[in-house]
Amino acid sequence: MTKAISRKSRHEILLIQEAGRIVADTLTYLSQIVEPGMSTLDLDQIAEDRIRKAGALPTFKGYHGFPATLCTSVNDEVVHGIPRPDKILKDGDVISIDCGATYKGLVGDSAITVGVGKITDDLKQLLEATDASLHAGIGKMVAGNFLEDISAAVEDVGKTHGYGIVQNYGGHGVGRQLHEEPFLPNYRIGQRGPELKPGVVLAIEPMFNLGTKEVKTLSDNWTVVTQDGLPSAHFEHTVIVTENGPIIATERKS
Ligand code: MG
Ligand code: MG
Repeated sequence: MTKAISRKSRHEILLIQEAGRIVADTLTYLSQIVEPGMSTLDLDQIAEDRIRKAGALPTFKGYHGFPATLCTSVNDEVVHGIPRPDKILKDGDVISIDCGATYKGLVGDSAITVGVGKITDDLKQLLEATDASLHAGIGKMVAGNFLEDISAAVEDVGKTHGYGIVQNYGGHGVGRQLHEEPFLPNYRIGQRGPELKPGVVLAIEPMFNLGTKEVKTLSDNWTVVTQDGLPSAHFEHTVIVTENGPIIATERKS
């Protein structure tokens, strides 16, 4: 039997929206200032400062021992890159910036991938398609649909472009914890999964690779990279199912 997904109360949803607003504001700001010559730790310090000033906590810091506020994953790094003072961004890079904030005990989780300076058309298309697949998934966050409707919508966009769709990582329930049940694959697994009902909150996070879907984890035990060394893109939103359709808690204003 498929386990039901927990449904958040009205109060919890308001707090998730506030946490989401803080995450969105942070990512918007980072996307505006990112430039060649910055280190990934520079971005992390700016993000932590901004989140704390907004009255929230950086959710990732200390999560299973993760040392930073952001996951910063550059080029062939898929997810969970650790910000470092010696990781210097250069023209033509792409960087996935993943950010979580906890506000009064509730979590918002979102990621964007942005180009540093001028990026190639191939990379632009990879970023656009990955973001488009996220929005295709969000479009399925409708009461009465099932979890696999989201997975299918994401997968279809990735397949159309022939990208490697990362299978080992995916979306998740979010709210009281950063990662709650259920796991949300970015491809069909042949089970429709639990029904989506009002109050369900999920983080949808497609990761598409320019080449192979296969990934491996580096010896820091965090950083996930593509096996063929080709670039990867990652976008994520925290999304609420309501009677009136999906609400993106982490929607950015610009
Ligand atoms: Mg995230
Ligand atoms: Mg997430």
